[in-house]
Amino acid sequence: MKRFNTIGVLTSGGDAPGMNCAVRAITRRALANGLKVKGIIGGYSGLIKNEVIDLDARAVSNIENLGGTILLTDRCDEFKTEEGMQAAIETCKKNNIDAIVAIGGDGTFRGATDLSLRGIPTIGVTGSIDNDITATDYTVGFDTAMNTALEAIDKLRDTCQSHARCNVVEVMGRDCGEIALKSGIASGAVAIAIPEVPFDEDAAIERILKAKNAGKRSMLVVVSEGVFNAEGKPYGEDLKKIIQDKTGIETKFARLAHIVRGGSPTLRDRLTASEMGSYAVDLLLDGKSDCIVAEVDGRIVSFDIKFALTVDKMYKKKLKEGALDGFTPEQIGTMEEICAFRASEIKRLYDIHLSLCE
Ligand code: ADP
Repeated sequence: MKRFNTIGVLTSGGDAPGMNCAVRAITRRALANGLKVKGIIGGYSGLIKNEVIDLDARAVSNIENLGGTILLTDRCDEFKTEEGMQAAIETCKKNNIDAIVAIGGDGTFRGATDLSLRGIPTIGVTGSIDNDITATDYTVGFDTAMNTALEAIDKLRDTCQSHARCNVVEVMGRDCGEIALKSGIASGAVAIAIPEVPFDEDAAIERILKAKNAGKRSMLVVVSEGVFNAEGKPYGEDLKKIIQDKTGIETKFARLAHIVRGGSPTLRDRLTASEMGSYAVDLLLDGKSDCIVAEVDGRIVSFDIKFALTVDKMYKKKLKEGALDGFTPEQIGTMEEICAFRASEIKRLYDIHLSLCE
């Protein structure tokens, strides 16, 4: 069992509500185990530029309810170069940082692997509003993002009802449609378009017309930002025009964009971030490295980063030739099960949406 003196913590890539709870949990769990903690400011950029602060218990008090990340974040291409990586290692040496916990998404985990391979044990904690990391059932920030989207969509419902309008709402999610799917079901959307399921535009128009003729005044349509038209442009604005032209219903378009990234984290995000952050420190104390903390069937577990990123590629059908080399048949079987479960969950929920939106 490896003993460390000092660990570093950073947040990287897209921010997500709940990251602060993870920072707090990592710091306090490490302090409770007699470790020192350094906060790296601005993700991997801060590691390259030696922007490092001491974190004690007080430095992380009263941050549970704060949106964003007190450690700030960045997207840093320099970190992908060997020079940038060496500068980061140098910063670790200067600050006696023996190991790192990196909170972020898949890009952040690629960086974590690079650090681990160069002798800085690194653990990833999933922080992403999109719930877009296939190996974990849940990523910190997702619940808050869904609830923020839902609150905005409910408000659009009010005004749609008053004016007898339709509103197409685009929400974030990159290649994962879960924010759109879940906030759409919860807000009673008449149609939902997500990247994972082919969108039946004609059926949606027919449904809207049928509902209008039955006296429905307000129509909500939720579209994920990852759905594109034939020219590769976001589909939401197209759909607004199509609905207006084909149904005669006045139709508005709203892009919620970065609004769903902000705000005070929900209990779910605070709790999961606290659990995942604590577990990340336990993994390091156990001598583990190059893993991410995940949630599977309600339990906090860990996966090797390479495994997690490969499952992700498998699910998104982006596996390159040879990507499965080195994995055992059992591991590949587990990957296939994870992908099949995720796909079946999306289908199950989409079917529920279709059966409720008549
Ligand atoms: P997220 O972690 O939310 O997916 P990004 O994809 O922007 O966000 O990744 C965050 C950061 O992780 C990048 O800005 C970069 O510094 C680092 N990173 C991403 N990909 C790699 C890679 N292949 N190798 C090393 N570092 C990477």
